[in-house]
Amino acid sequence: MKTADELTNLFREQGLRVTPQRQAIFRLLQANDTHPTVESLYDRARAEMPTISLKTVYQTVHDLAALGEVHVLDLGTGSLRVDPNVEDDHHHLVCTSCGRVRDLPLEFAGLQVPSRHRRGFTVDDVQVIFRGRCEECSN
Ligand SMILES: [Zn+2]
Ligand SMILES: [Zn+2]
Repeated sequence: MKTADELTNLFREQGLRVTPQRQAIFRLLQANDTHPTVESLYDRARAEMPTISLKTVYQTVHDLAALGEVHVLDLGTGSLRVDPNVEDDHHHLVCTSCGRVRDLPLEFAGLQVPSRHRRGFTVDDVQVIFRGRCEECSN
């Protein structure tokens, strides 16, 4: 994901609104590898900017996703998760107890669908989710 300044310029170029509220979301997502939910972003943004609305957070995340600056993932934790790591292809470890998500920057060589199962389907992308318990939930 681009820096908050770069995103500000990009949004302006695209004719999208740039407000202090939106810039607060940009900053909260910088180097954020926790895969926050929109609601948790809202909680954190509200701490520094009490006037921000949940709708603004949703709209900002939606605009970022439309520009390819974040991925919005359904990892089966009950809420959509925002992933600003769009540069490096990766998979995920997901804790089924607390919902923690961790990036897994690995390639699984040989992970392919044999053509008789694909039946003409063209595969563009593979995402592997490993579910289990994180170190805190294992104890
Ligand atoms: Zn856990
Ligand atoms: Zn990720």
